[in-house]
Amino acid sequence: MLLAVPLVYTTVETRAWSVLYWRGIWDMGAWLAARRCEWWTVKLHEYQARGLLDQCGVPVPPSTLAYTPAEARAAAASYGRPVVVKAQVLVGGRGKAGGVRRAATPGEAERVASAILGLDIRGERVEKVLVTPAADIADELYLGAIVDRATRRVVMMASAAGGVDIEEVAAKTPELIVRVAADPLLGLLDYQARELAFGLGLRSEQVRAFVPFVSGLYRALAQWDASLAEINPLAILADGSMAALDAKIVVDDNAAFRHPEYATLRNPEEEAPAERAAREQGLNFVKLDGSIGCVVNGAGLAMATMDLVKLFGAAPANFLDMGGGARADRVAAGLRIILLDEAVKVILFNIFGGITRCDEVARGIVAALPTLPRPVPIVVRLVGTNQQEGRRILEQANLISAEAPEEAAQAAVEASRR
Ligand code: GDP
Ligand code: MN
Repeated sequence: MLLAVPLVYTTVETRAWSVLYWRGIWDMGAWLAARRCEWWTVKLHEYQARGLLDQCGVPVPPSTLAYTPAEARAAAASYGRPVVVKAQVLVGGRGKAGGVRRAATPGEAERVASAILGLDIRGERVEKVLVTPAADIADELYLGAIVDRATRRVVMMASAAGGVDIEEVAAKTPELIVRVAADPLLGLLDYQARELAFGLGLRSEQVRAFVPFVSGLYRALAQWDASLAEINPLAILADGSMAALDAKIVVDDNAAFRHPEYATLRNPEEEAPAERAAREQGLNFVKLDGSIGCVVNGAGLAMATMDLVKLFGAAPANFLDMGGGARADRVAAGLRIILLDEAVKVILFNIFGGITRCDEVARGIVAALPTLPRPVPIVVRLVGTNQQEGRRILEQANLISAEAPEEAAQAAVEASRR
């Protein structure tokens, strides 16, 4: 158990991170608060993010949401100039996927919108487009705000290499990204915004134009309890002015209890089917990239279990916390949810029975077996309340059972290699 805590920082990929950190043992209060609310993640559409930035004083160009080609045409006509029609989906890289196109006339806007609407962009169907007056771009900057775990501060990042994939810039040419950290008490100060601008090599009149974007973006992150807020590209236009041409905000659902307005921002399409099924069952589930499905009761145990899987050389396929007192039907539901993921080769149960009764869990597993969509090896470590009875039930069903968590993790990893 002891080795679990430091390891998890390095072994579990970022998506699990927020769950582990915010819902993990470090912040049990937030975890409990979040569980009282409905559990969902909140990645916002560009049009929604533009709205939030606008409310925080970021200069955002006008735009109109359209659900049909005719609406796009009307919007273009109302601007009376060339427009850009943009797919509203929650995945990035829309430009490269043909989801961002220029239209010179209302007629062209209608045609372009009908080509974009219904497109499949990385698995997401386009249901709506945003129509916005086309800007004459001279240069594209990147501006972002994140809650940085390493410095425990809100960090503002900017790069002159904007427009393109910022993750790629960070990986290949990190020196092109400049950063400043906001003081938790004082917030972000104007001189820090200027420091970013100087770091980008902006000229003095551009520095003045740049500052409101930085302070506005910081305000948006703070006010909306976002974990990420981005403007990419922040364009320098031909006339020297600047415009936020794209906006991305991810809010932290742990703050849902103090943001009733999140409910109106929610986008059901962002949830993977497995995540939705889990939420409806009241199970905490996060999909990861490995091949070992993990079922546990408790967030701390989840971390320890995932660390053990890593320690023995494999990777967890998910994080599924059934919570305390899980009954047989929930166990069965959890198993089916995990198997929605094709990558899962083995399922590892690590149950510490307190309020949860081992015999209930065992019964759930056995009951679920005939209903599973495909056969996979299941390794079960059961200790605690009613463990004898639980193991007897498992033995009768010929399931691999283990006593020590290391033993179970190792057995699961070995089974995944067969
Ligand atoms: P993303 O690819 O999903 O990040 O979508 P963006 O909104 O960032 O758009 C991709 C690219 O389209 C931008 O980097 C710009 O080069 C271009 N673009 C977006 N809006 C405009 C605009 O108003 N005018 C022009 N000319 N290009 C735009
Ligand atoms: Mn963009």
